[in-house]
This record gives sequence, structure tokens and C-alpha cells, in this order.
Amino acid sequence: MNFKPLKYISMTPQNKGPEKEASLGNASKLPDDNTPLLDVSGLRSGTDTQEILHGIDLRVDKGEVIAIMGPNGSGKSTLANTILGNPEYVVTAGNIRYKGEDITAWSPDARAKSGIFMAFQHPESIEGLPVVQFLKQAVSARKTTEVSTLEIRMEIIEWLKKLGMDDEFATRHLNEGFSGGERKRNEILQMALLEPDLAILDETDSGLDVDGLTTVASGVKSIMDHRPEMSTIIVTHYAKFLELIRPDRTIVLVNGIVVASGGDELAMDIDSNGYDRWTER
Ligand code: ADP
Ligand code: MG
Repeated sequence: MNFKPLKYISMTPQNKGPEKEASLGNASKLPDDNTPLLDVSGLRSGTDTQEILHGIDLRVDKGEVIAIMGPNGSGKSTLANTILGNPEYVVTAGNIRYKGEDITAWSPDARAKSGIFMAFQHPESIEGLPVVQFLKQAVSARKTTEVSTLEIRMEIIEWLKKLGMDDEFATRHLNEGFSGGERKRNEILQMALLEPDLAILDETDSGLDVDGLTTVASGVKSIMDHRPEMSTIIVTHYAKFLELIRPDRTIVLVNGIVVASGGDELAMDIDSNGYDRWTER
């Protein structure tokens, strides 16, 4: 896919289309306490040729942690990417409101600047770009002020410790030769430094062994503890990951429709009984 992940915001300032730049004024504040941070309503979206999401409603409050579960191909990544504004997906009905504003037509860049972040299921590598330089640019763009290399380096080192990674990691090139676990940890490192208001983790737990899973989960936990006002959407197959993160609510997506919503018990139930009850209908 040729969509540049939105974390690369500062590198491609030119965007076309009817989008609007997010002003920092609305980036940091909600109009009032009852406005959900994210309010997805009647959302239909898909590729040029095929509708994948058939009317999704999803409300995420400030500080809330939502898990999205569902079998392969149910539209979880499509939902995440549509919220992110990935141009690969076309919205044909409904809308996405964020901090009280309709962002359905916003560019991915504007969404990123106003605090929407996604940890990718399959992070891409950028040849020759050291992690520290990448993060410096991305964080500067997010904060709309130039942060110094030293400042970034110190922050990185602090988070690398929490993520059980070596300091030397910061000097390596983005995702080049990274193991699956390193890629996932690197996404979490980005999440920590970019300080999003809405973080979306798309199967950040996939392809990790138990140790990796525990480290990544505790990394995510420490970001959440550090920034309790952050809202998080966690896309996952694994109840184990949710046991560690403890979301406020779990929703189940099957064939582009939300078929169930519940608490911890729902995730545990799915872990034991799978999705058959929804897929066999
Ligand atoms: P999940 O993340 O739940 O596994 P996806 O959102 O990736 O599901 O995919 C949902 C369905 O839409 C699948 O059948 C997938 O093949 C299809 N799909 C998703 N993205 C594309 C795309 N860019 N082009 C064609 N089909 C797609
Ligand atoms: Mg997916």
C-alpha cells in the first residue's frame, strides 16, 4: 500500500482534497465534558469497489479504553484506517466526529496533528532514517514547535527502559531489520512520545511471544497511567492482551457490523467460545 502512515506528518506537508488543517485551539480541548472524544455514527466505508463497514456506531469518551475484537476480515483494520483518514478507504455514509468536530473529510495529516495516532499492524520501514530523527520530526510536527535532538533522545531513553529495549535502538534506522517484536515496541515508543489524545493500536499484540506481549502491554499501561486523559482503541484477537490492559468496554465486529458490546466477560467468553455464534447466523 502506498498510504504514508500519518506519523510521517511533517515530511509531506502538501495534501490535496477538501480537508482542513486542524488548529491547535481545537486540538487540545473538548467543547464540554459530555462531548465524546470520538463519535462515529452510521459509518459506511470501504474500497472503491466494495463496502466493508456497513454502518458503524462507536462512541469513545475521554480517557476511555475500548477493545475491538472480531475474526479476520471483519473490518477492524478498515475501521481503524477510516478513523485515521487513510485515503485507501472511502466513506460513503455517516460521519466521524472528533472533539466535537466533523473530521470525515480531514486529511490524515490534520488528524495526526490534532492527536489521532495509530500503531500499525504492519509498520513500514524507512531506509536510512534513524529512529531518533524520525521521532524528532514527528514530535515537532505534533507539537508545532521544533524539539531538540537532545530532548528527544532523553525521552526516548526513558521510554526504551520501560519497554525493555536497548539504548542503541534509537540510532537504528526505522524498522530496517527490526524483528516483529521490535517493530511493535517501536510503535509503542512512538505512541509514548507523540502523546496522542486518541491512540489506536491495530493488533499491536500479534506476532509477539508471551514475553513480548507482556512488555508491550506494560508499556501501553505505563503510557495510560502517565496520561489518563488519553483515549485508546485496542484492536486485538487475544483476550490475554486485554487481561493485561483491562479495557473499559469491548465491542465485537463481524462482517462490518458491531454485533456485541460488553465488559471483560465478553472478551473472556470469546477466548473460550470464539465467534461462531455470530458467524453462523
Ligand atoms: P480485519 O482487520 O478485521 O482482519 P480488514 O479491515 O483488514 O479486516 O478487512 C476486511 C475485509 O475487507 C477483508 O475481506 C479484506 O480482504 C477487505 N479489504 C480490506 N482492505 C482492503 C483493500 N485495501 N482492498 C481490498 N480489500 C480490502
Ligand atoms: Mg486487521
